Amino acid sequence: MNVLVINAGSSSLKYQLIDLSTQEVYAKGNCERIGIEGSFLTHSEHGGETQRTPVPFPTHREASEYVLELITNLGHTIDGIGHRVVQGGWYFPESAVVDDEVLAKVREVAPLAPLHNYVEADVIEAMRKAMPEVGNVVVCDTSFHYHMPETSWRYALPRDVVDRLHIRKYGAHGTSHRFIWRATREFTHGETKKLISLHLGSGSSLCAIEDGRSMDTTMGLTPLDGLIMGTRTGTVDPATVFYLQRVGNYTVDEVDTMMNKQSGLLALSGISSDTRDIEDGAAKGDEHCIIALEMFGYRTAQLTLEMAQAMEGFDTMAFSAGIGENSPLCREKICERLAWQGVRIDKEKNAVRSGEVRDITGEGSKVRVLVVPTNEELMIAYDVQELLG
Ligand code: ADP
Repeated sequence: MNVLVINAGSSSLKYQLIDLSTQEVYAKGNCERIGIEGSFLTHSEHGGETQRTPVPFPTHREASEYVLELITNLGHTIDGIGHRVVQGGWYFPESAVVDDEVLAKVREVAPLAPLHNYVEADVIEAMRKAMPEVGNVVVCDTSFHYHMPETSWRYALPRDVVDRLHIRKYGAHGTSHRFIWRATREFTHGETKKLISLHLGSGSSLCAIEDGRSMDTTMGLTPLDGLIMGTRTGTVDPATVFYLQRVGNYTVDEVDTMMNKQSGLLALSGISSDTRDIEDGAAKGDEHCIIALEMFGYRTAQLTLEMAQAMEGFDTMAFSAGIGENSPLCREKICERLAWQGVRIDKEKNAVRSGEVRDITGEGSKVRVLVVPTNEELMIAYDVQELLG
């Protein structure tokens, strides 16, 4: 079965055509700067070189139509289309085949993720029109966390407000955490029972997964909560928001931009949101970069234990995404702070670079420590196969 996976972001549209019988990626690419001057396409086939072509993409609709034509011209069939949807809100406990009602629900919950859900819905609509004979499936980032225990998802706010505005911990990165659970279980032959999944990229979240169920996660109503991220604050005292407005005279929109785009590792280091730059800076003795890495390690270790509480223990940690997969230093900074909990990693194994699942557990460790490359696209394709195949 060939599945086209679409991941529409606020100004981009990523795609992959995956043959599920072999897991081969026939083609993949990204329409970038949609709606912005200088839009372009990056595209590669069969793992070959990536070509960059300037293409006008005024909206996501044009981008999706362009991608469909490009893929159709390759000569492969498209047997199903899977769409990543950032926010499933109170509707999607699991992935769903698209019909008019599903599409309306994606739009209804869009105020919780306005930069994503509206364009995702537009793209789904365009695909249905262009290829009415092919089924579409929505795979929501929030679904995996839908059935967390109430003690994890509920906020201690007035019930009438919570009910009226659908306020709860929705979490994010659910598709990635679900993939990480699956890959970890496969690697440990089912031995893992209580997993801390560490998705550490430019956006980062942790998830406590017990027997395949999300028990708690660090992102909240929105993806701003939890860990220190590239440009996001993560958790701060909520009263900081009122203080910035009342005393600092910032508007709501300014506070929103500050906390989402001007904070996190970027603000701490003063140079970059990218851990590669911060690691270089720290190696040269830059004090702001040194504290940025120390705080990232401290907060991640601290929240790892918060997640562990949801399962009353943990037997495996799995590092994933841009930082988790590629930064031995960040993994070390986190694990050394958890040494008092019996977490040990092997320095040599930790230094190895590879695209495979690998075990970096040190001698005498009470917890197994793995590096697990995530693959959200493959997880989405599996869901399409299950629902349409
Ligand atoms: P996104 O959340 O955008 O999908 P990724 O999971 O791709 O992000 O993570 C991107 C981040 O991963 C970069 O901003 C960078 O901080 C980090 N990263 C990537 N490669 C390395 C590396 N070799 N060493 C340290 N950090 C890295």
